[in-house]
Amino acid sequence: MRRLAIAVVLGLVAFGASGAPAGAPAPAELVLTHGAVYTVDGPRSWAEAVAVSGGRIVFVGTAAAAKPWIGPQTKVVDLAGKMVLPAFHDSHVHPVSGGMEALECDLHGLATADEVLEAVRKYAAAHPDAVWIRGGGWDLTLFPAGNPSKALLDRIVPDRPVLLDASDGHSAWANSKALALAGVTKATPDPPLGRIERDASGQPSGALREEAVGLVSRHLPRRTAKDYEAGLRKGLQIANGFGLTSLEEASASDRELAAYEALDARGELTARVSVSITADTDKVLADVNRIKALREHYRGKRFHADAVKIFADGVLETRTAAVLLPYIGFGDDRGKTNLAPADFQALATALDALGFQIHVHAIGDRAIRDTLDALEAAQKANGVRDARHHIAHLELIDPADVPRFRRLGVIANFQPFWANGDQYITELTEPELGPARSRWLYPIATVAASGAVTAFGSDWSVSSMNPLDGIEVAVTHREPPKGPGPAWLPQEQITLPQAIAGYTIAGAYLDFTEKETGSIEAGKAADLIVLDRNLFEIPPSQIHDARVLWTLLEGKEVFRAPAFAP
Ligand SMILES: [Zn+2]
Repeated sequence: MRRLAIAVVLGLVAFGASGAPAGAPAPAELVLTHGAVYTVDGPRSWAEAVAVSGGRIVFVGTAAAAKPWIGPQTKVVDLAGKMVLPAFHDSHVHPVSGGMEALECDLHGLATADEVLEAVRKYAAAHPDAVWIRGGGWDLTLFPAGNPSKALLDRIVPDRPVLLDASDGHSAWANSKALALAGVTKATPDPPLGRIERDASGQPSGALREEAVGLVSRHLPRRTAKDYEAGLRKGLQIANGFGLTSLEEASASDRELAAYEALDARGELTARVSVSITADTDKVLADVNRIKALREHYRGKRFHADAVKIFADGVLETRTAAVLLPYIGFGDDRGKTNLAPADFQALATALDALGFQIHVHAIGDRAIRDTLDALEAAQKANGVRDARHHIAHLELIDPADVPRFRRLGVIANFQPFWANGDQYITELTEPELGPARSRWLYPIATVAASGAVTAFGSDWSVSSMNPLDGIEVAVTHREPPKGPGPAWLPQEQITLPQAIAGYTIAGAYLDFTEKETGSIEAGKAADLIVLDRNLFEIPPSQIHDARVLWTLLEGKEVFRAPAFAP
């Protein structure tokens, strides 16, 4: 808070009581004026104008007070009421793998099984030389029980292997050729943390869950370093177009890190990136030295790898998330954790002692409790420090665990787009949890009210990377195109200012960059976006229609909509 206060004072000193710049500052390089500037500073104040020089914000205030910053060389952009926000932060996103997927057979956003099959057919026809047809993004809800059959694919691509990831990244769909090539048959047992879906006769039917995906995917041709770099370039292009200039890469190996390094060295990294190195949960402590070495090796101008990603469990829709009480209708099934609690605590303690920021994928209430236990054990062993560990996804939190976030200083990293009452929730999730426990799905408002920091991310390519989609759902609790109507779980809706903060200043806090970015204040970097309309003046159900027109990172344009001519 003290830092924010100082930034405000600097701003006041800069334009002074009379409106004239104190100490006659050099004219700014860029002045945005007559805008609706929502600054996301401490008091959440509004302004009309922002002046930028040397990549930094040098003035925030009224249009009249901005005039002394305008010289003959200053570029002046009259926004005519358009909105200015701090550039967005995505606290959980997969820019490299998502970008590679977007360049392959891309099935995201398709609305019917027929559309999916048509897209696969078209892709296969357009790529006659592809040895494998690979890609992903198909929606589980388009197929009965989230379980598409190999026969559907065999009809369109009988002669080449096909493997397509589901949009949630926890299932895949193979054709007969791919299963045969991988030697997956009736006799193949399920791997310990996965499931081969089977027909009535026990034959693999086409869908693979979690670790079972690896039985086939390990036969895919190895992607090249160039593929990774092309994927990252594509991911960054999409991110900048949605007004994002700060990203938390949610899952990286040395291959993703090499792509970040390559683009950073060429000055092509158009976002600040904090990379989470994926820990091998099978190896537990034996993996720590590898992680440490990667952190030391990979550090660039715009990226670093000071975070570690731990997958605590799977997902609710396929009952691979670890829950406290059994899934309804499935006997004693309580899902699976990837780490025994003692191992999790030992790993978290070791990583915390080395100064890593721990980023955990935890979805079920049992996995979330195990994670909080592990982070608490680390704090007990190593003492309280400014660690900013965070738990992503948080789909089902036991109410008893809510106060622990604030108490332990753990950031709640939600993906608010998921809290929309769609078919994943109503058809796959709520029936297996029952109404009493379903009340505790995505409890964003409750966690925020507890005083914990809540930061937001997309988990793209699992779902839309557009922060405006996430902001709309956080506020409306409805699927974006549906328009106004009753909210799903209305007690967990949050306000527009809270939702914007989750994608800006809270994301900056999560990234340890809140002195540098996340709000529009004199002294901070000019990470700014211009939107075509003021989000506070439109119905919340239309937020997803708003468009980012201009994205600046450190004052430099990284995206401009064709229609916008500043
Ligand atoms: Zn993720």
